[in-house]
Order: sequence, then C-alpha cells, then structure tokens
Amino acid sequence: MRLLFWLGLALLVILALKKKIQPPAASSGHAEPDAPQGPQGPQQGTAESMVCCAHCQIYLPASEAVRRGEQVYCSKEHAELA
Ligand SMILES: [Zn+2]
Repeated sequence: MRLLFWLGLALLVILALKKKIQPPAASSGHAEPDAPQGPQGPQQGTAESMVCCAHCQIYLPASEAVRRGEQVYCSKEHAELA
C-alpha cells in the first residue's frame, strides 16, 4: 500500500512538472522558422538547377559549374579548353 502512495505522489509530481513546462512551449507554437514558401516543386534540399557543360555536355548542378562568358562548363579544364 505504501508503494502505491509513492507511485501516486510521483505521478502527481510528473503531472505538475508537465503543466509547468507546457505553457511556454505552447505559446511559441505558431512560430515556424522554415515554412515552405510555396506548395509547388519538390523541396528535398537538393532542388537545384542543372546546367550542361558546353564542352562534354555533362549535366551538373549550377553551383558546381564553372562559368566563362555565357557558357558553363563542368570543370576549369573544360573552360580552358573551349
Ligand atoms: Zn565538361
């Protein structure tokens, strides 16, 4: 019987702690830091435009492309060759 008493007390303490913790968490519930800008398009984190190397016609992400004038290349070597 004493064990039940302590179990009940522990439960009450846990519930009291939960109630204390909840209010601040609930008040900042509507603040979403990175909400998607639009529903269209796959947003996998790798949604990047692909470009084609003017020398070897290989496709690569635009961020990795080497630009020379109006052409884009897959590498510095191909940019120099063209
Ligand atoms: Zn190339």
